[in-house]
Parts: sequence; C-alpha cells; structure tokens
Amino acid sequence: MELLRNLLSRTLGLGGEKPEKVLEELTLEGVSRFLQSERCKNVVCMVGAGISTSAGIPDFRSPGTGLYSNLQSYDLPYPEAIFEISFFKEHPEPFFALARELYPGQFKPTVCHYFMRLLQDKGLLLRCYTQNIDTLERVAGLEPERLVEAHGSFFTSHCLRPGCRRQYGLPWMRERIFSSLVPKCEQCQGLVKPDIVFFGESLPSRFFSLLQSDFQQVDLLIIMGTSLQVQPFASLVSRVPTNTPRLLINKEKTGQSDPLMSLMGFGCGMDFDSDKAYRDVAWLGECDKGCLELAELLGWKKELEELVRKEHAAIEAKATQGGSGKAGGGKDEAGGGSQAPPPKSGGVTETPPPLTQWGCGIK
Ligand SMILES: [Zn+2]
Repeated sequence: MELLRNLLSRTLGLGGEKPEKVLEELTLEGVSRFLQSERCKNVVCMVGAGISTSAGIPDFRSPGTGLYSNLQSYDLPYPEAIFEISFFKEHPEPFFALARELYPGQFKPTVCHYFMRLLQDKGLLLRCYTQNIDTLERVAGLEPERLVEAHGSFFTSHCLRPGCRRQYGLPWMRERIFSSLVPKCEQCQGLVKPDIVFFGESLPSRFFSLLQSDFQQVDLLIIMGTSLQVQPFASLVSRVPTNTPRLLINKEKTGQSDPLMSLMGFGCGMDFDSDKAYRDVAWLGECDKGCLELAELLGWKKELEELVRKEHAAIEAKATQGGSGKAGGGKDEAGGGSQAPPPKSGGVTETPPPLTQWGCGIK
C-alpha cells in the first residue's frame, strides 16, 4: 500500500518528494553546464549501432545494405539461423563466410567514439555500455576496464568444448576467417567461436556484475545511437537514480514509457516533453554532430577534432605499413562487421525477431 501511494504520488504529483531538478534547462547547454560542474563526476554512456554507421558499418536492420541478399546465398533454413548457437554448432560455415564478407578493412572510430575517449581522458567516464560488436570503442582507445561490451565482441574467441574453453585472440581468428577455414581449437579440435553473443547465449557476466554499482553512482547518463528496443540493455535507462539527468543523442526520440504504464507508476521511461519533464534531454540528429555540438559547448571542440585527426592518421599509417588490405593491421583493428544479434530479454537470448528488426541501434 505504501508502495502504491508512493507510486501514485510520484506519478500524479500528489505531494510526496519531488525529484530534484539538476539541470538548469533541458537542453544541450543545460547538460554541458552540468558536465562542467563539480556535481558531475561519473558519466555512463550507453551506445548502439547508430554511433558506428558513420564509420561505414552496416546495420542489420537496414534492408538496403545488401546484407539481406548476402544471407540468401548461405543456404540457411531461415536468415536468423546464422546467429543461433545451436545452428552454428552444426553448421558454422555460413557465419564465418558472413564474417569474412563483413570484416572491416579499416573501419575508423567515429567522432562519437572519440568524444567518449575525451570523457575518459578527462576522468569523467565511469563506463561505456555498448551493444556493438565492432570493437571500435577499443580502437578509439577506451580502456578495457571502462568498457562493457554487452553483446560481446570479435576481440576474443573461445573453444566451444566445455572442458577446454581455450581463448584465442583477434589476429588468430582473423587469419582463419581469411583463409576460409572453420576455426578449430589447437588443443582439442573443437569449434572456436568469436565471443559475440548469439541467440541462445547469455550476456557476459561483466554486464550484470558492473551495472549494479555503476547505475547507482552515475551522475549523467548519455545514450547515443540506439533505439533502446533490445532487452535487457534498454532497461538500463530506468536504473539510474531519479535525479540523474539523461541525454539522448539519436536520430529520433526513444525510450519514452507508455502513457498508461507511466500513469500506473512505471514511469521510468524517458520524458522529454511532458509538463513533468525535469531531467531528460533529447538532441536529434547524427551522433557525430551531436557530440561535436556538445564538445563545442564544453570548449572541447578543437581538442576533439585534433584527436580524431591524429588517431585517424595513425590508423591510416598502420594500414599502409601492413599493406595487405583487408586482413592487415594490428591487434587493435576493428574486429566485427556488424552489430550483434540482439538478446531479447532477461539474461539469455531468445528466438530472434524478424531480420528487419535486427540490430541494436537506430533505424
Ligand atoms: Zn579446445
């Protein structure tokens, strides 16, 4: 009863404690001023496919990318099978053929990736939760401990035999992918799979262990390039303290709760526009542009542009040195060609949605 009254009072504004309004105004300027204040020490970023599209990485959900027709040539019982763990164990070839096709030559991290790098360098980034499997956060220089790759990545691979589970690195896997060999464990000849989360697999334990404390400490949540449609990732936005401002940088508004649900007290979704809006800010457009605009307000724009220029030049120089085009490059090269198949709910992935709904990012 107490709970119900609290919920009602919070939702209908019938007394009770009102959440504090931390931002002076619900705009990018408001967020920028808060970011520069003493109060903002821990920023958590949640990102999806939309931050990598400007790097040229195709989104599974966009039918125009050719991914559709590619899949048809793999003789799959249905398209989703290519990312199902049970199918993969029997027929790994289609997945590795796709991985070869999508393997990036030299994907460069985007302005948005380097904006997060700046947050890290300035000691403000508590954690980046990414749904992407392209490893571009690592390439951009985010430290592994600052990173939660919620849907796994190509960065490491493991032997699938439970008694073995030997780990392999990206160069090892890349070599096999490009020699069109199905990767077999050197120790036991078991099948080796990149550590991306397939349908039917759990999310990494790191996701569940870190979110508990991260989402209690977070002073500012920045959500970029994701339509927040994939669980359990999407539910993270509702885990922040009630005073914590949330900034969405995306092509469209997302994450708002259903009006009826919100009336019933389950109003943890984003609220950008209602009379009660007090902490959520939406900046609509390309992620890179949003980050540049925020950087400008923060007085970081020059620094950000210089970082992008320097890092991109270094990647290009390395590619020229490596010389071998697609398969060249070092260990920190981008590893995956696309976004991970999205887990549906709970910890374990369920039957995947139709292909048109794949991808964890923006439409
Ligand atoms: Zn093995």
